[in-house]
Amino acid sequence: MLDTLNRRLVLPLLAAKRGSTYLRDLVELERTQFEPPEQIRARQLTLLKAQLQHAFATVPYYQRTWTAAGVHPSDLNSLADLAHFPILPKADIRTRGTELYSTAYRNVKVRTKTTSGSTGVPLKILLDERGAQWKTACTLRADQWSGWRLGQRVAKVWGNPEYRHFGLRGRLMNHFVDRAVYLDTIGLTSERIGEFATNLRRHKPGMLFGHAHSLYLLACALRKSKITDIRPNGIVSTAMPLHDWQRVVIEEVFGVPATNRYGCEEVSLIACQCERHAGLHVAAESVYTEVGGRPTGTGKLLVTDLTNAAMPLIRYEIGDVVTLSDAPCACGRGLPVIEKVEGRDADFVVTPAGRLISGISLTENFAMHINGAAQVQIIQETTTHLRVRLVKDDTFSDASRRQLAKLVLDTFGPTMRFDVEFLDVIPQEPSGKYRFCISKVANDFMKGLSA
Ligand SMILES: [Zn+2]
Repeated sequence: MLDTLNRRLVLPLLAAKRGSTYLRDLVELERTQFEPPEQIRARQLTLLKAQLQHAFATVPYYQRTWTAAGVHPSDLNSLADLAHFPILPKADIRTRGTELYSTAYRNVKVRTKTTSGSTGVPLKILLDERGAQWKTACTLRADQWSGWRLGQRVAKVWGNPEYRHFGLRGRLMNHFVDRAVYLDTIGLTSERIGEFATNLRRHKPGMLFGHAHSLYLLACALRKSKITDIRPNGIVSTAMPLHDWQRVVIEEVFGVPATNRYGCEEVSLIACQCERHAGLHVAAESVYTEVGGRPTGTGKLLVTDLTNAAMPLIRYEIGDVVTLSDAPCACGRGLPVIEKVEGRDADFVVTPAGRLISGISLTENFAMHINGAAQVQIIQETTTHLRVRLVKDDTFSDASRRQLAKLVLDTFGPTMRFDVEFLDVIPQEPSGKYRFCISKVANDFMKGLSA
């Protein structure tokens, strides 16, 4: 009842009062997602041309780097032509951020986002209001793919709830409109999880949303307490890769499929699984995705923001390796697909023989094939030295140690040394995220490959 009231009345009234366009944008996006792929690509080309013209006319960074590279926006006649334009590395946002601001927005009110950045060094991003509204609509569209409906309550498993930054107004908005239930993930305790479970039972949220690993830890705690009656319409897992060993537990406890989402603070939503839970559909009306100039294939992801005019990010190298595909999804949407997010480039390890292995598949393989290993974190110190950190359960034994030794030998060959450390929990990164594979040598190795 409240959900319907919220969807039909409260949200439209508030949007009208504030001049927000996201609800209208959402209607448009609900339609465009089913357009044929060629039509979606044609729209991207139109948006891309306009974004390049705008960037060259008003953004000092692109004026300088494109002139130096001998390219001009008028050179872009197809999506493939974008490959001639220089890549925007993350380091340039950090060191030359203000040069990326459009002079057209100097006296216009824009939103500012400060992100922790995956390396812990903050990045400052400007976002214009029109782009912000459009991106909100893209996110809401993807939220609804999970089974949640606009207006329903959301439960967030997340550190540092955002409404707290807006004082009394934020608290009132959250209480009456957003009605989100939070579990702050910085310092999870069993009491707080118990309290959250009570809130979930009382408020029956339509969506459970959070970091993949935080959702997993919550599911483990509920399972341990034999709480199995919490049934949201959808679960959205974001901010880090969702591993199959986490997905299994989350789905068992909550009884619905987990929807995997991929994005970053700099451009917001990039892609999300639909109700088929296969690949992740790209929010193609908001971002253009490519690997090395190609719209399909495996490699380092480059993202071009098609909507943010205040700080246009063009060919931005996020630092993740992905597989892009044009293969149709059974849902009928024409949006292109990220088949797989392989992980951050630093999440790869290198074998002594010089082979790259995705950290996700590696930790997945180890967790599945070592009896009693509840969680695995692998840290590659050098090309011939690994630290394997394990959270074990009661079934871990000497046989498990032999399984581990054999896995290291089979995967890396006889020259790889390894130490084993047992932990109670895998430690969080300062950002609140978790990393299961950290290599101190993979990035340099990959740079060597592309040099
Ligand atoms: Zn689909």
